[in-house]
Amino acid sequence: MRVVFLGAPGVGKGTQADRIAAKCLVAKISTGDLLREAVRDQTTLGLEAKRYMDQGSLVPDAVVIGLVREKLADPSCAKGFVLDGFPRTIPQAEALGTVLTSKGIALDRIVNFQVSREDIVRRLSGRRSCPKCQATFHVDFAPPKVDGICDRCGEPLIQRSDDRRDAIEMRLKVYDEQTAPLVRYYQERGLLLQLDGSGSVDVVFQHLSQELAPHQVT
Ligand code: AMP
Repeated sequence: MRVVFLGAPGVGKGTQADRIAAKCLVAKISTGDLLREAVRDQTTLGLEAKRYMDQGSLVPDAVVIGLVREKLADPSCAKGFVLDGFPRTIPQAEALGTVLTSKGIALDRIVNFQVSREDIVRRLSGRRSCPKCQATFHVDFAPPKVDGICDRCGEPLIQRSDDRRDAIEMRLKVYDEQTAPLVRYYQERGLLLQLDGSGSVDVVFQHLSQELAPHQVT
């Protein structure tokens, strides 16, 4: 199964990607997670990426394409993968196509998660994240068992700098300008699946699993 999860920030792609990857035993490749890891480790790439991420703008194509190319070469991706948050621009989509063609493989499906703007802002502004294991919670919809502490690893939760109001607005603007054109790009290639992402995590996961069933090998 080789799929891409597309959609604006806050539509729940990351949460669903975690679940699908675990269920289908395929790799999850999240460029956001990879970049945050690089920022945390203070690598040269991380230091460069941080200034874009803090503002809510996109990290340059060459940087993220390099990251994904490296990941796709990893044996953990041999059985398939879920790409979360990549591609986000047409040049990234073209680069992905070239890498996959050179490996003699192709994407099975692109899932576009649809959620209203109002819900997106509510989801992102209430989101709290674990800086250590990347688990996410929501102050109202999915609070941790102990206030401010990660259920999974016990680390204090943070609000990502790009989940603050001004950065959210910027991220949505960037999405409209640079990422939304990918919907048409993949529609024209007959790969697009539109999915309502407005329900609960479980409901969305059920629909997603049904839709992806033909592509599952396990
Ligand atoms: P995410 O966790 O997917 O919302 O990503 C967080 C931030 O990482 C984004 O706002 C961008 O600054 C950066 N980022 C993640 N994926 C990409 C990508 N494919 N292209 C450019 N920047 C990205």
